[in-house]
Amino acid sequence: MSRSPSHEVDAPSDIAVRFERVSRRYERADAPVNALDGVDLSIRRGDIFGVIGHSGAGKSTLIRMVNALDSPTSGAVFVDGVNVSDLSAGRLRDARKTTAMIFQQFQLLETVTVLDNVAMPLRLDGVSRREARERATEALQFVGLSDRVGSYPGQLSGGQKQRVGIARAIVRNPAVLLCDEATSALDPSTTLQIIDLLRRVNREYGTTILVITHEMDVIKDLCHTVAVMEDGRVVEQGSVMEVFVQPQTPIARSFVGTVIPQEIPGRVRARMGTAPLWRLRFLDDEVTTPIVGGLISEFGLQVNILHADMTDLQERTVGHMIIQVEGPQDRRDAAYAYLAERVVSIEEVFA
Ligand code: ADP
Repeated sequence: MSRSPSHEVDAPSDIAVRFERVSRRYERADAPVNALDGVDLSIRRGDIFGVIGHSGAGKSTLIRMVNALDSPTSGAVFVDGVNVSDLSAGRLRDARKTTAMIFQQFQLLETVTVLDNVAMPLRLDGVSRREARERATEALQFVGLSDRVGSYPGQLSGGQKQRVGIARAIVRNPAVLLCDEATSALDPSTTLQIIDLLRRVNREYGTTILVITHEMDVIKDLCHTVAVMEDGRVVEQGSVMEVFVQPQTPIARSFVGTVIPQEIPGRVRARMGTAPLWRLRFLDDEVTTPIVGGLISEFGLQVNILHADMTDLQERTVGHMIIQVEGPQDRRDAAYAYLAERVVSIEEVFA
């Protein structure tokens, strides 16, 4: 792609998408809305980056900035080093070739075959019909739909339609693949298959993937990095592992809680007594260390396990436990220090 010197271009870097103090204000008759409010984000090349937030948090506005369907009221968005926020129409067409998108409702053309749906972006670029069909055939092979090239979208299941959507998105080999709630219309087992396929796109083509979702399960199973949005702001971000093991903000805790329960059930709480409660989080080997046994044998404490679970997360295991510890204060203090050295985190919680 040719770029004029007047146009702002980043030095080559390992950053695929960068938001610099991006705000987007919608003027509305009732009251203006700040859909994005000073968002700073950097998405590394090759990352699978998830943005999670409730409805209205600003996720769609954020993703629409990347393919320049919308532009900031202030700030700038860089994709592959190019500031896409203020491009002329011609340059915009070029810039849009670096991104592709898949959608919750698939957005396929019902009146043309699967093969021609996938070939469409290439045809729009002026690629010959023959070459476009060849490349579309390869993309359909990649997504496991070689046997459905001649079908029409109406003859496919939801999962198959999304595979076509993915084939159509990767057929031009985009640098960045945008996923807008791409699994929200699918059942859980089909969701997992689509997640597997997206991970394979990332691994085999090195495609950077930006996902927006309101489902923490998608973040857990698909993403490497996550940003949590609330009221147009990014309130927390980090590796998926960091955010799952030690969420910092109430909203991140509540999203993590949809996958890993964080609360003590009400009925248990009612019967609990007044001894202190400790929340422990641990990883991998720590999961199998006899932590509770140690508290009993080394410190002579009484330990009541109120909650325990283990979750598979990116080929690791995250453990979470809430225990109630009874015994003299000095022994409890020693036990607390003992645990602090052996687990990822320990905190006293108040029911
Ligand atoms: P999400 O995708 O997280 O649900 P959106 O980005 O769609 O959030 O919306 C963020 C906020 O901006 C919401 O309050 C929404 O009502 C408002 N908004 C989005 N698009 C428009 C628009 N075209 N005009 C006016 N307000 C909008």
